[in-house]
Amino acid sequence: MLKFATARDAVLELRPDAPVYCFRPEVLAGDARRFMAAFPGETAYAVKTNGEPMVLKTLAEAGVTTFDVASPGEFAAVRDVAPDAHMLYMHPVKAQSDIRLALEKYHIRVLALDHEDEVAKILRIVHALDLDPSSITLFVRIQTKGSAAYELSKKFGAAPAHAVELLQRCARIGFKVGICFHVGSQIEDPETYNRAIISADWVRSRAGVDLAGLDVGGGFPATYGRDPRRKKVELPDLETIMARLRSDLHEWGFSDLPLVAEPGRVMVARAFSLIVRVLLRKGRRLYINDGIWSSLSDSWTGKITLPARFLPDPARRNRHGDPDSIGAFRVCGATCDSVDILSRPFWLPETVDTGDWIEIGHIGAYSMALRTRFNGFYSDDFVEVTTPFDAGGAAESFASLETMAD
Ligand SMILES: *Cc1c(COP(=O)(O)O)cnc(C)c1O
Repeated sequence: MLKFATARDAVLELRPDAPVYCFRPEVLAGDARRFMAAFPGETAYAVKTNGEPMVLKTLAEAGVTTFDVASPGEFAAVRDVAPDAHMLYMHPVKAQSDIRLALEKYHIRVLALDHEDEVAKILRIVHALDLDPSSITLFVRIQTKGSAAYELSKKFGAAPAHAVELLQRCARIGFKVGICFHVGSQIEDPETYNRAIISADWVRSRAGVDLAGLDVGGGFPATYGRDPRRKKVELPDLETIMARLRSDLHEWGFSDLPLVAEPGRVMVARAFSLIVRVLLRKGRRLYINDGIWSSLSDSWTGKITLPARFLPDPARRNRHGDPDSIGAFRVCGATCDSVDILSRPFWLPETVDTGDWIEIGHIGAYSMALRTRFNGFYSDDFVEVTTPFDAGGAAESFASLETMAD
């Protein structure tokens, strides 16, 4: 992989016409260590966030020993780069054949569920393979309510009374049992974890079974950009959220249990930026060579303002407008699909024009993992960049990044 100090250096040398992902392994390792230092339990990286081999390998080298996986593709991806890693199969709804693969080939011994039919599926395989149920831990996923960019309890999770029954059923069979939840992605209110912990306490007290663990899921927010026209949302930093989580866990009597967290976004967002090119400027619109069917769908559905840095093409002679004036540009994606327009503008200097580049920061989560081959476009070019996105900004970093806007 080619290596550059900054994305600007990469642009000047490569003049890329297709999108280029800038990987920052040191930022990734640092953010992983930061999370592990702050969380008082086992950190299981959620592979779906970004399952690139370079990501999994860097995390394993940084000391991540546990991975939250959901499919045969993810089992294999983890096994390939980290053969000794511990995998947690936390998808509540699984194919029978995938359960067999997990237990038989990958020796996965921790699974999640939110329905009795799932217990039956798992039990069938446990019997077929002649496994001892007490070697397996089943986490019952409970519903949560909260405020996040993505709400997931509409799709998964047992209501509290149902979760009580499921825990009792699994324990009666001889499985070890735990409680898990996932509050949704990019939480907007740190109180969200407390509400989930209160539900977990209610379920535990009614179930009357010994718990082998509590898994608090993911949802920890990453830093993104800010739209200067909108009210500033004060999100506490990770350490503050963790201090609050630790005190909630203590207050509700969970701090002596083995704890698990499944961070995705917060761990990998800052590890990548993306260089895109302006294919055309048409008034206040920029047509770029990436979009919602490639790396930008998460920002579209999550209505996330991405930090964007202007990387002007030095070959352009004529520029119009005031370079010190920052304005909002509507961003249109590469495909011919009419919905391929970002839901949030990029904030850039008025001089941005056809042929210039933009470095989109903090794009490591739910970006390349969600890219499609729609319309024949598929970005797969990577370079390594050594300077963190946030540190790469001289005066010309016209980002709408929170820390830079202040
Ligand atoms: C997606 C997912 C995660 C990771 O969520 P983030 O918001 O990216 O931290 C964790 N656990 C489960 C069960 C998930 O589905």
